[in-house]
Amino acid sequence: MPAKKVAATNRPAEKGEMAMVEGILEGSPDGVGVAVIRLDCGCRKMAAIDKNGEPASKIIMYRDQAESICAQCKEDNGDFMRVTEQFISWSTPEPDIQTKKMIEAKVLGVQEEQSN
Ligand SMILES: [Zn+2]
Repeated sequence: MPAKKVAATNRPAEKGEMAMVEGILEGSPDGVGVAVIRLDCGCRKMAAIDKNGEPASKIIMYRDQAESICAQCKEDNGDFMRVTEQFISWSTPEPDIQTKKMIEAKVLGVQEEQSN
């Protein structure tokens, strides 16, 4: 069984996404994870994120089992209005929980007010 290199939070990345995530992390030495953004058309937007929540790679768009992204994405570049799901697939070892929360808030705009 191959070693699992990437762990996802929230929901597991799909097989095709995992392959992309691993490829992006390999090309992004500063990356601690990859933001995965799923669009309603089936295309994906991904970018490596560094430990400060800053982009560690350029944004990559792809469509699983297709040679290119769809016509709509070419037009609007994957508008955020069409985002259906987004999460961060962490590299291993994963950052600590505080760092993960900070990065998620910064990258995904997740606002969690759970203290107190
Ligand atoms: Zn698309």
